[in-house]
Amino acid sequence: MRYSTTMTSRWLIVVLLCIAATFAISPSLHAEELSKTDFVLGTVCTVRLLEGGSKATLDESFSRLRTIEDHMSANRDDTEISQVNAMAGKTPVKVSEDTFYVISKALEYARLTNGAFDPSVGPLVKLWNIGNGDEKVPPTEKILAAKALVDWRQVVLDATTRTVFLKKPGMALDLGAIAKGYAADEIEKILLNHKVKAAVIDLGGNVFVFGSKKDKSPWRIGIQNPESERGEYLGIVSGGQMTVVTSGVYERYFIENGKRYHHIMSTQTGFPVDNDLISVSIVSKSSIDADALSTVLFVLGIEKGMEFLKQFPDTYAIFIDKDHNVYLSPGAGKVFNLQDKSYRYAEK
Ligand code: FAD
Ligand code: MG
Repeated sequence: MRYSTTMTSRWLIVVLLCIAATFAISPSLHAEELSKTDFVLGTVCTVRLLEGGSKATLDESFSRLRTIEDHMSANRDDTEISQVNAMAGKTPVKVSEDTFYVISKALEYARLTNGAFDPSVGPLVKLWNIGNGDEKVPPTEKILAAKALVDWRQVVLDATTRTVFLKKPGMALDLGAIAKGYAADEIEKILLNHKVKAAVIDLGGNVFVFGSKKDKSPWRIGIQNPESERGEYLGIVSGGQMTVVTSGVYERYFIENGKRYHHIMSTQTGFPVDNDLISVSIVSKSSIDADALSTVLFVLGIEKGMEFLKQFPDTYAIFIDKDHNVYLSPGAGKVFNLQDKSYRYAEK
């Protein structure tokens, strides 16, 4: 997968991104259905209104997505996150309520995981720059220097002034593991306000199915088969209103000397997390939590991840490893159905 920031290549990405990790299995299209797709948050985002809502609902949804990108992107120089990063070691920066909330939430996950999930992973993300098309394994001294700057305890939030301060120069926030989930929850609020009855939000594989379909049949969300074309799913999650978010190693990566280097970083080693996992999908009611948890459980691995998940009721995980084993968290069997016979259920 290759990413660049120019407009021409952006739409090329639209095609490339067609191997998104999670996707709603489409109910048939109706003539009255309204839908909008655009490139935002570094990915292809679609909102489909199956019942209720109007063009204004879609416009408001995409305007909200743009605002979130304007505030939280680490890939542009003019965002709040970029200002916080530029002022690292110098001065606190005042941010909007949404940026403050997402950073607080990310720091909460950092605390719960003792830094395995860490929004101050920016220096490592920038150094590895996975997805820009020109990647190679960085020199060890640079990896160690970047790793030394990753420390969520050095991120200071002040709720009274709504400021964020990174204590050490060179520190940098990156909300890539959590902000799309927040964005999906924000669109949910807009759909509620507009009295939408049924809709599908797809933010580059972060899928949120909202409300219930006219015929009351369950929603079906496919978990992408990591080794196949898009549309070939390994299994299906079905149920009522929910979000399904997947973190995987098969979209943003490069291969050097036969080894795959992907975009989910170990804050312990400074290298991409090295375990046998291909993907982790989370089923939940809250997309910000599902997004954070998909990354958290990927980093923690199967055993620690299953243990960690116990503190989140009604939240399920589906782990897939490179040997075609599928591991389900307790209760996930109620919502997940394995379809591809070359994969099998396993237990740790
Ligand atoms: P997830 O597993 O949810 O997240 C992985 C991402 O989290 C990594 O890419 C990294 O950013 C971060 N991360 C890695 N390791 C850790 C860790 N241990 N703890 C915490 N976080 C970690 N992409 C572009 O190519 N160009 C853009 O202009 C661009 N703009 C964006 C703007 C916004 C507001 C957002 C939210 C994303 C943007 N992206 C952009 C995509 C972004 O760079 C990530 O690649 C993407 O969010 C990864 O999401 P995921 O669901 O694939 O993986
Ligand atoms: Mg995530």
